[in-house]
Amino acid sequence: MTGGPSSLLAGLDPDQLAAVTAPRGPVCVLAGAGTGKTRTIVTRIGYLIHSGHVAAGQVLAVTFTARAAGEMRTRLRAMDIHAAQARTFHAAALRQLRYFWPRVVGDAPWDLLDGKLRLVGQAAHRAGVGTERDTLRDLAGEIEWAKASLIAPEDYPAEVARARRDTPATAELVAKVYAGYESLKTAARLLDFDDLLLHTAAALEEHSEVAEEFRDRYRCFVVDEYQDVTPLQQRVLDAWLGRRDDLTVVGDANQTIYSFAGASPRPLLDFGRRFPEATVVRLERDYRSTPEVVSLANQVISAARDRPAGSRLRLVGQRPKGPDPRFAEFDDEPAEAAAVAGRVKELVDAGTPLSEIAVLYRINAQSEVFEQALAQVDVPYLVRGGERFFARQEVRQAMAAVRTAAVNAPGGGDLPALVRAVLVPLGLTDEPPAGGTARERWESLLALVELAEELASTVPDADLPRYAAELDQRAQAQHPPTVEGVTLASLHAAKGLEWDAVFLVGLVDGTMPIQHADGDDVAIEEERRLLYVGVTRAREHLSLSWSLARTEGGARYRRRSRFLYGLIPENHPAARVAARRSEPPRQAMGRGMNPVRYCRVCGDKLVGTMPIKLGRCESCPAEVDQGLLERLREWRVERSKGLRVPAYVIF
Ligand code: ATP
Ligand code: MG
Repeated sequence: MTGGPSSLLAGLDPDQLAAVTAPRGPVCVLAGAGTGKTRTIVTRIGYLIHSGHVAAGQVLAVTFTARAAGEMRTRLRAMDIHAAQARTFHAAALRQLRYFWPRVVGDAPWDLLDGKLRLVGQAAHRAGVGTERDTLRDLAGEIEWAKASLIAPEDYPAEVARARRDTPATAELVAKVYAGYESLKTAARLLDFDDLLLHTAAALEEHSEVAEEFRDRYRCFVVDEYQDVTPLQQRVLDAWLGRRDDLTVVGDANQTIYSFAGASPRPLLDFGRRFPEATVVRLERDYRSTPEVVSLANQVISAARDRPAGSRLRLVGQRPKGPDPRFAEFDDEPAEAAAVAGRVKELVDAGTPLSEIAVLYRINAQSEVFEQALAQVDVPYLVRGGERFFARQEVRQAMAAVRTAAVNAPGGGDLPALVRAVLVPLGLTDEPPAGGTARERWESLLALVELAEELASTVPDADLPRYAAELDQRAQAQHPPTVEGVTLASLHAAKGLEWDAVFLVGLVDGTMPIQHADGDDVAIEEERRLLYVGVTRAREHLSLSWSLARTEGGARYRRRSRFLYGLIPENHPAARVAARRSEPPRQAMGRGMNPVRYCRVCGDKLVGTMPIKLGRCESCPAEVDQGLLERLREWRVERSKGLRVPAYVIF
């Protein structure tokens, strides 16, 4: 290693030091964004290893995204630690399962289910439920929620009735589809991502010799972003631990953004009760962001309702002063995208590296207009967080093509050139396409060529078979290659990461907060936390923008996000418009009866009673889409944890 254990500790503040050097046993770091939680746990791993408390091979660190796991590995390697594992829960489970499977289940083959919509569609068809894509997505999300919450199909109606007050008929239908999906999957000998965790936990719970072997191998567990642990992941963690308590967790309850998928901050907040002897550390110094960004972050989160004890931490900025966050309102999305791209270009020209800039949005569908605008000003970019990299069609095709080429022409030549030649027929043109799906495809293929370049520079005699093996290994570990470019990502995918400059775009009601959160206070609060996650990604430059989709006559079709009220400085032109309004825009309704309906275009209340028969909204010229109404007569399941209502109530 570089230096001794003490050199690892240089630069830590006293609270971080207390967490890093705590004796073996349970440790919990409860702290806000940018306070050094991830840095603290990685340093703790290094400290425990280099001071001889644990062998590197006995450490298993888990987190939630492949990118975060990759960053942990990079930081561990920088401390000269190679044998410690840093993986996502799923990647760790997959690896263990491959090892234990023959002993636990026998040698019958199984495969990973690649996207579940097809099987959900079959199950929905059999259950007599609509099979349109949106419905299937909602059903798939619902099945994921149930599995992550450890709810079996037969218990689903009762659990849902208790937790979410769903209508019994809807719950019965979902349960039927869920059960059908499970049996179709089992018959085809397929496992979905949640099955990996379920089988891993079961293997350890039911096979004592497997548990013993595992617990002999791994002795020290670390979890980052623990506020987003699901009951299923917690069960795996408990199975890993057995009766031991060498567990370090870090998290920030204010960053819980996956509760729609079953995650809960409770295990984080209750850690001290579960392990009374635990070392519990709170960090409040924010090392990531300028005081201006920190102050905005504090404002965003202080407006949250019902913050549980343990999450009321106030960040104190440690960095020198920086620029004020910028707020900008535009007439339409292309104008917003062009302005953002222009500003990105300015930053790049002034020396900000591409990899230090991110454009973050609420839903992946928002990326396209920003992709086009960036392509227009010739700024390379990289879209993250949509499909998993190795699940993308072009990546799967590329891997198959590389394998074939490796068999047909295994020897020698210039590896990057060979890989490029294989990928050209799949769409790797010399010039990048203008934007959209073709550009995304191109970026993935380029990432594969860059991986070949990286491999060729580290392993000089690397050939195609070696490259194919590298791809397989990465696919198994869900460790995608990275390319140099401005990051375009959803707010969910940005968790845990940081950039010098962050653009939060599309901040309009209906997108941020998302439309289906309306009428559900719990879901609205999760949206607010998502904005907090976004704001706290910025080290220095932060821009918040939105577009109102004005017509030529000046009518507005959208409202700026309700979360912006109170944040926009008083001297900003947008603030003057806000001040003229007597009250903030529509607030979330109480749950349940008689939900208010809003125009999906301008956000104003619709007049009339259900079902909506209006052809027009009263406040703006929007037409109510009759086709959509027809389609939405079928119920849809909303994925948020609150009350689910038929979609026609909430568009
Ligand atoms: P998040 O909640 O967003 O995941 P975090 O609490 O995990 O944030 P880190 O990513 O570990 O925060 O750290 C934020 C930034 O602050 C990083 O750039 C890190 O290197 C830096 N940092 C952390 N601790 C210190 C310190 N003691 N001195 C200087 N910089 C620090
Ligand atoms: Mg972190």
